[in-house]
Amino acid sequence: MSFAAVVLTLYPEMFPGHLGHSLAGKALARGDWSLDARQIRDFATDRHRTVDDTPAGGGAGMVLKPDVLARAIDAITAERPALPRLLMSPRGRPLTQARVRELAEGPGAVIICGRFEGVDQRVIDKRALEEVSIGDYILSGGEPAALTVLDAVVRLLPGVMGNQASGVQESFEGGLLEHPHYTRPQIFEGEPIPEVLTSGNHAAIRAWQQAQALALTRARRPDLLPEDDERKQQTQPVMK
Ligand code: SAH
Repeated sequence: MSFAAVVLTLYPEMFPGHLGHSLAGKALARGDWSLDARQIRDFATDRHRTVDDTPAGGGAGMVLKPDVLARAIDAITAERPALPRLLMSPRGRPLTQARVRELAEGPGAVIICGRFEGVDQRVIDKRALEEVSIGDYILSGGEPAALTVLDAVVRLLPGVMGNQASGVQESFEGGLLEHPHYTRPQIFEGEPIPEVLTSGNHAAIRAWQQAQALALTRARRPDLLPEDDERKQQTQPVMK
């Protein structure tokens, strides 16, 4: 069974967006995954198809109405009860490669895109939505966040990436940032490719790559190293 993505949005025309291109687009055309972008407004019942209202307690902006969103969620849940329900939200748990991998191994996901000031808290609670953030900044809507989550998931689906191995060696997969990459020309603006990489000594290459990954992680993202990791305490220059 292929990975089924159902997106709830006020802008279904934003999908599949960039995921209609390159490897994700080919996989979509092949049916390795599916994408169903639904218009939240279709679940409004009044004459004006209202989806938002002013915030209780006052303040700027508008809030997505819980009744309309709940109807949309319930309609999709009736069709696909097994799918986890994600709400894109800057207040959510930051997305990790581990969560991405779990999602990729599952049947799919319902992804809800907020707009305006966000979503009425009661629908988040009553429908037990998993709030997911893609980083500590504010987007104008959940759509680019949903596309980001799906991009990260789709590239892990079986058969999507030509070279399966590259999915395992990357940044975060081993708990570290990835080592730097080089390719021809041999000398670029006076700078040669590090000698070890052209040595043909695979053990030495692997050791160099691991040392680089560790040094890079220690310098840029020590938070990725376990607290008690002695590697975290050592200081070593990055690259070169
Ligand atoms: N007033 C809210 C921000 C609303 S932004 C607050 O301060 O928390 C409008 C919508 O964009 C949100 O409902 C959410 O769906 C989406 N969004 C914005 N930033 C996001 C982020 N970092 N990660 C995931 N979704 C985000």
